[in-house]
Amino acid sequence: MDIIYRFDPYAPLELKRPKNNKEALKTLHQGNCRFYSMVNHLQNVQDGKKVESMVVPISPVQLGIPVVGGLAQMHSPYAAVLGCADARVPIEHIFDCSSNDLFVVRVAGNVLGLECIGSIDYAATALRESLQSVIVLGHTNCGAVGAAVNVYLAPSSFAEVAFSHPVRTIIDRIMVSVRSAAEALEAVYGSKIAKNKQYKDWLINASCFVNSAFTAYDLQREVNAVTKGLVVSYSVYDMAWSTVNATPIRNAQEAYDAHAFGTAPKNPEDLQAIAKEIAQCMELPAKR
Ligand SMILES: [Zn+2]
Repeated sequence: MDIIYRFDPYAPLELKRPKNNKEALKTLHQGNCRFYSMVNHLQNVQDGKKVESMVVPISPVQLGIPVVGGLAQMHSPYAAVLGCADARVPIEHIFDCSSNDLFVVRVAGNVLGLECIGSIDYAATALRESLQSVIVLGHTNCGAVGAAVNVYLAPSSFAEVAFSHPVRTIIDRIMVSVRSAAEALEAVYGSKIAKNKQYKDWLINASCFVNSAFTAYDLQREVNAVTKGLVVSYSVYDMAWSTVNATPIRNAQEAYDAHAFGTAPKNPEDLQAIAKEIAQCMELPAKR
């Protein structure tokens, strides 16, 4: 079995340039489906199944190689993505995107600090002509969210995190989402859920999704202040299944039934409803 990356310097230049938010989200979702197919293909090989060779065409444009010497490409991304700094979440790969497709800002916990807002404001104004979408992309098993959950559940046991000012600037921004996720889990499954041995893992999982939606809520207000008509969406990269979803999934098939992206909540009540939907999608055994 071979996976062949076929580089053709004379391949026709196929620039993906979505014309609106809907087209941009569709393009990203299709890219993630290609990425998932590749992962699935590789896993079948690992499992010893007989599979056909796979040819992946690569063009100079995809790799960011200038086709004309001495001329810089025009900066024209169609989506801005605020993602986590986690090394296991390579955003362009996850969406199978080319060079110049995405304006990417990465910071631990995909939290919205001033520099992040400044970067996205720049994209929303200076690159407005090409930019159609803004996305907050969290991920499952996020270390920053896990640290916030640790501090939430047992602050005295994690003093080095709770009382470190630089780390707190990240943890504090995630804490609202952890509280919302904890309330949503209790509302759906009852207060006994907090006594379950797996509660911490469940709370981390729910918080990853709520944190992404909450950051999108914040970011939408910031974006509205500098430009009109730019929609912020949120999603979470599921490390176990290599798919991108707005609500938790239990297997890859569910990824196709679930929405890949959610629209940023419009108010705190909207955010609360999203947190409850996230909790319900987890279908935990402690359900009342
Ligand atoms: Zn992370």
